[in-house]
Amino acid sequence: KPMEGRITDIGPHKYNEYFPPVIKNNFGKWLYHEILEPGVLVHVAESGDKCYTVRVGGTRTMSITHIRELCDIADKHCGGYLRWTTRNNIEFMVDSEAGMKALRDDLNSRKFDGGSFKFPVGGTGAGISNMVHTQGWVHCHTPATDASGPVKAVMDAVFEDFKSMRLPAPVRIALACCINMCGAVHCSDIGLVGIHRKPPMVDHEWADQLCEIPLAVSACPTAAVRPTKVEHNGNKVNSIAIKEDRCMYCGNCYTMCPALPISDGEGDGVAIMVGGKVSNRISMPKFSKVVVGYIPNEPPRWPSLTKTVKHIVEVYAANANKYERLGDWAERIGWETFFKMTGLEFTHHLIDDFRDPAYYTWRQSTQFKF
Ligand code: SF4
Ligand code: SF4
Repeated sequence: KPMEGRITDIGPHKYNEYFPPVIKNNFGKWLYHEILEPGVLVHVAESGDKCYTVRVGGTRTMSITHIRELCDIADKHCGGYLRWTTRNNIEFMVDSEAGMKALRDDLNSRKFDGGSFKFPVGGTGAGISNMVHTQGWVHCHTPATDASGPVKAVMDAVFEDFKSMRLPAPVRIALACCINMCGAVHCSDIGLVGIHRKPPMVDHEWADQLCEIPLAVSACPTAAVRPTKVEHNGNKVNSIAIKEDRCMYCGNCYTMCPALPISDGEGDGVAIMVGGKVSNRISMPKFSKVVVGYIPNEPPRWPSLTKTVKHIVEVYAANANKYERLGDWAERIGWETFFKMTGLEFTHHLIDDFRDPAYYTWRQSTQFKF
């Protein structure tokens, strides 16, 4: 709300200003919800009111014409209301079954010139919802992989599971383009994370001019950065030295100091983590664990990455019990068997030596499970 007569753009308006009437009228009084078919939910309120939601896949970056079409659809079917989810889905809500069917059929009928769905309905229940992801090469400074590119390629590979619910349980996929991880990679069924594999380069000419060297030193979580003086063009200049065996290639120092670029065409790539979840259902929430240490960046379609993700999904689909999330399945059969069944190579790169129980990984004992 405007304060003291002033209108500012600081922060969003309060969420309840944007509720569709059926949600406003039944706020806090919902009894249950069901998934009627892939991409279609119904929430039933104490009053008997129903709210039908139709979910469609979107993208994190959209053209204005695409957004206008979404708004037109909302105007036509939903009184102008729609919502964007954190997984880059768009949800349209209506208050009658007839309205839901008209909306769903309208969405399914809208296609791109090549015949692919403009607004694919799906992403619910025991299928693969849209991916949470980060900014990628164009929009951030430390990415080790792109975001929109591999996300599009992976979602194309698993598209049938976006539109169906044949899997044992939900599979949530996320991508973060560096280990700063503004995606939800650490707690996803399948997490794709961009990794650098080389320490930052040091541009001695610019280090002292572009950077507050103490800030770069303090930005490093492993104390690998220290101030130094070097010969440059015949002069002694203040600069930075990297202790390479301490560096974990996180790129934090580059955030503070543009004279420490870390992106590298050959070294950068993607690691795959699996088995994480935030849900408390059946078993506790868990962190994802690294199962593939490195896959090279292969733009524009990332064939090795998409093939590996699809393969993990298929082996899980064929072998897990109903309601078993990917991590629950791996824990039940044993991670050793997980590697055997998926054919993924187990290497020393997959073992970490964190001592904190929050990060315990594979085995903390000599009791193996084959
Ligand atoms: Fe930037 Fe890393 Fe976040 Fe990607 S994950 S947007 S590179 S900070
Ligand atoms: Fe330290 Fe990370 Fe920079 Fe390596 S990349 S020097 S670990 S801040």
